[in-house]
Amino acid sequence: MDDVLIDQVSRLLAHEATDARLRAARAGGRADGWDAITAAGLPLALASEAAGGLALDAATVLAIARAHGKAGAPWPLAAAMIDAAPECPAELCSPALATAEIAGLAETVLALTLEWTQTRQQFGKPLSKNQAVQHSLAQMAAETAAAGAAVGLAGLGLAGENWAMVAAGKARASEAAGVVAALAHQLHGAIGVTAEHRLHLFTRALWAKRDVAGSEHDWHTRLGADVLARGSLWRLATDEPLLGLAEPATAGDRFRFPVVAETAARADLRCDVRDFLAEELAALPPDVRAHSWNGHSPDFSRKLGERGWLAMTWPKAVGGHEKSALDRLVVIEELLAAGAPVAAHWIADRQTGPLLLKFGTPAQQAAYLPAIARGELFACIGMSEPGAGSDLAALTTRARPVEGGWRVNGTKLWTTYAHKAHAMLLLCRTGEGQRHEGLSQLLVPMDSPGLNLRPIIDLMGEHHFNEVHFDDVFVPADALVGAEGNGWAQVMSELAYERSGPERFLSTLVLAEELVAALPEDAAAAHAPLGRLAAHLMVLRLMARGMAALLEAGEDPALEAAMVKDLGATFEQAIPEIARSLLPLIPDPPGSLLATLHATVQIAPMVSLRGGTREILRGIIARGLGVR
Ligand SMILES: Cc1cc2nc3c(=O)[nH]c(=O)nc-3n(C[C@H](O)[C@H](O)[C@H](O)COP(=O)(O)OP(=O)(O)OC[C@H]3O[C@@H](n4cnc5c(N)ncnc54)[C@H](O)[C@@H]3O)c2cc1C
Repeated sequence: MDDVLIDQVSRLLAHEATDARLRAARAGGRADGWDAITAAGLPLALASEAAGGLALDAATVLAIARAHGKAGAPWPLAAAMIDAAPECPAELCSPALATAEIAGLAETVLALTLEWTQTRQQFGKPLSKNQAVQHSLAQMAAETAAAGAAVGLAGLGLAGENWAMVAAGKARASEAAGVVAALAHQLHGAIGVTAEHRLHLFTRALWAKRDVAGSEHDWHTRLGADVLARGSLWRLATDEPLLGLAEPATAGDRFRFPVVAETAARADLRCDVRDFLAEELAALPPDVRAHSWNGHSPDFSRKLGERGWLAMTWPKAVGGHEKSALDRLVVIEELLAAGAPVAAHWIADRQTGPLLLKFGTPAQQAAYLPAIARGELFACIGMSEPGAGSDLAALTTRARPVEGGWRVNGTKLWTTYAHKAHAMLLLCRTGEGQRHEGLSQLLVPMDSPGLNLRPIIDLMGEHHFNEVHFDDVFVPADALVGAEGNGWAQVMSELAYERSGPERFLSTLVLAEELVAALPEDAAAAHAPLGRLAAHLMVLRLMARGMAALLEAGEDPALEAAMVKDLGATFEQAIPEIARSLLPLIPDPPGSLLATLHATVQIAPMVSLRGGTREILRGIIARGLGVR
């Protein structure tokens, strides 16, 4: 992607797209300015050099179209680009370019709305100081980010001639366009629906672009038909061209989701994991696999360790395999999509180990990491307490310094699989100060004297939650992880691992796969809802891959992770609703599908709570937008 060119073009388009021209165009008149666009050669962006064109790559052309959208520019640039490049199939180019324009428009509508809500005062303060307004802004931001990722997806589809990726990108961006426009108008109040304000210059374009080159309904229907023909949503979502491209987020993107394509090596790895799982999980019925997260199998975890599919990114010196975060993503995607019983090793592999790698002493690393990598040592998270849920900093569990270590007193709550874990990474108070100060993390063996558990049975009758009581528990001084008093900063980086993975959108996928397998292929009424799921899933996957690339680069994608978790939870919770609504299309629904639905309906409420509730995530996004 040519960043310098994109920057120049963005400036040109912003300069030419004056309000007067936008108003003239929206009123049905002719907008001047086209000469400057053609003089820059933009209509020839897609055309080959032989035809006198610029022959730019797909990502650059889409970045130009995005800048066109961002400026609200009213010229027929996309149509001209396609006319000038007959070798580029219009059925792919048109929706891809429209996707990019929508993403640009959504960015501008978000920016206008941010500006307005920070300026307009009601009740003696800016609108943006109200939590309800902040949450709507956060939702707009997440949808805008999804539209941006949809451009990446469409670009990969264009480069790899994969119609489904282009279709999913266009459908997802179009849906985002509707949400962003609606929320923007709501937050602007009456002024936003007048011709006097600028907002309509952009929202009217957003509405129009939704229907250009196929509406959501058109593309959802085609995608859904393909899902049923393949008999799998997941197979469609993972059927990607092997391009090997890794495009960094474009300079100026508000949200960073680098676009990473599938490679041949990762596709091979995916096949290996699938073959392994097909054999390992053959005897597990789908309603059991639907509990993937709660499926606790030390045996299975050990087998993953033997294959090198735990601790994948860690150094070899501590038992790891020095693979990339993108390789790890392939493995965990496949585990979750298949509903593998991952609970035993999940927390240790995902967050305790990486935290120890970052902050642990060499002795702690040697004692814990190789055993975690073998799938033999399991951990639990000691954060929440009876009085500290969303407000984690309200925690009161305290470690008092004593000779040789600490004495811990307090209660932890909702501790998943504490009863089967070997150690807890405990967040507790070791000092005084403000709420976020004086906190530290200790690695506590679960067989420590004075540590008692009370099982808490969940709504399905299962035991994974626990209340963990610390009654003067002695913890040696060398159990301190990182620096004393640095617990808050450490726990925030731990939460970035917890929130950034595909477990945030794949935990109800088993139901979707069972549903697809049971639906007759000619169930036309199922096409649109299934296609919508496909579009969301494909964009979420690309966003997760972008985050893995950021983690790989040593960055902390906390804002991006909050967005993906929020969007992902909504996707996961939609699956049981869609399954219920499509059930009547199945003449004789198999008992296994009904049992899976029954289980998933009860799992669904948990997904927007664990790892940070929806409201807390929207608060984090709002802070990232600068309105909190
Ligand atoms: C399946 C599952 C597994 C879990 N595993 C663990 C674990 O292993 N270890 C661990 O430490 N914890 C664990 N938790 C706990 C989890 O982190 C908490 O449930 C979560 O932080 C919310 O706390 P709470 O349940 O006390 O809800 P509350 O904080 O009481 O919130 C209730 C509701 O009020 C909303 N709310 C609260 N404050 C605000 C505010 N300021 N503004 C707007 N809305 C607000 C919340 O969003 C939520 O909707 C788990 C939870 C679940 C569901």
